[in-house]
Amino acid sequence: MKSANSLMSGLGTTVFEVMSGLAREYQSVNLGQGFPDDKGPEEVRRAAADYLMDGHNQYPPMMGLPELRQAVAEHAKRFQGLEIDWQREVLVTSGATEALGDCLFGLIEPGDEVVLIEPLYDSYLPIVRRAGGIPKLVRLEPPHWSLPRQELADAFSDRTKLILFNTPMNPCSKVFDAEELEFIASLCRKHDAYAVCDEVYEHIIFDDRRHVSIMTLPGMRERTARIGSAGKSFSVTGWKVGYVTAPADMMKAIAKTHQFMTFTTPPNLQWGTATGLRLADDYYVTLARDMQRKRDRLGTALAEIGFEVLPSHGTYFVTTDFRPLGFNGTDEDFCRHITVEAGVTAVPVSAFYDDSKTAARHFARFCFCKHDATLDAAIERLGRYFRR
Ligand code: PMP
Ligand code: GLN
Repeated sequence: MKSANSLMSGLGTTVFEVMSGLAREYQSVNLGQGFPDDKGPEEVRRAAADYLMDGHNQYPPMMGLPELRQAVAEHAKRFQGLEIDWQREVLVTSGATEALGDCLFGLIEPGDEVVLIEPLYDSYLPIVRRAGGIPKLVRLEPPHWSLPRQELADAFSDRTKLILFNTPMNPCSKVFDAEELEFIASLCRKHDAYAVCDEVYEHIIFDDRRHVSIMTLPGMRERTARIGSAGKSFSVTGWKVGYVTAPADMMKAIAKTHQFMTFTTPPNLQWGTATGLRLADDYYVTLARDMQRKRDRLGTALAEIGFEVLPSHGTYFVTTDFRPLGFNGTDEDFCRHITVEAGVTAVPVSAFYDDSKTAARHFARFCFCKHDATLDAAIERLGRYFRR
């Protein structure tokens, strides 16, 4: 038999699947993979259910249901002040994951350089490479994860096709500030590069921070693709409904990729997502406030147990340094160890690096988008285990 594609067949199973499998095996409290306990807003699920029963369950338009594309454009106007042409500048995808793939396959020409910021979400690098892109990686360093400006500037060149980055940022919970965003934008303008911005946690942001899309910065409207996800904004991660907003010229190639990847996304879930994007402001305020309260509940307790808890400015996650607990193995060892011995699962942060061996290996990421009872059960188990 001829061999399959070497890049793809050389990849391991994603850390989320591995850790959730381990959590099932040991019946641990799973604070690894990021998915909420909450069911999501009733009206969003009701809208999807009603549409499933009474709506048109056939192929929707390739770009997405008009109602959802209009809702994405209205939402961009409401929260970012962006004027978006819903007919030419919005595409509905099967999750942000597909949206990322569509942008990367649609924009990258083999040999193009692509700037990425580590730690990074695990789907980015395989797709960049499969698209023929040459990754130029810039690393943020804990505990503040601030942008190393000179290194970022050095990573750009006239061969740079695009930068792909994520804010609020998984796994390190950083929110890029206005100066950092402007610095990235200045490099995009200088080198005539695109920005692909993964903004799936745009509404999961804390301590009165406000999400700013790089698309709103001078000279960026015409060179940015921004990506959102119903999974995160409406606590329905299994739906896999994403949306891309990009200028019409960029969108052409992105949509062509979508047309031959998935072509469409289930219409009832699109309808439910449109309902969600039109929820009043207080829904979004409450979502962020509840998540912040959960961050504090888990973060405070982990610190009391003896973890060093790093700041979390957004996302579902808090990063912890476990060395103060006296554990000397790697982060992978630690996450397996607490799953088996304490009955709580976390995710090793080194999984978010191209070469995990050169990354810091003493950080575990805990997910807090859970019911209080789930968080308390995890806290109780970890407390009991480490205070033996
Ligand atoms: N980007 C980031 C940073 C994420 O954390 C996730 C969550 N899984 C995704 C993309 C993918 O989102 P989706 O489930 O909508 O494909
Ligand atoms: N985004 C989620 C996380 O970081 C998981 C996504 C997935 O399982 N692919 O945990």
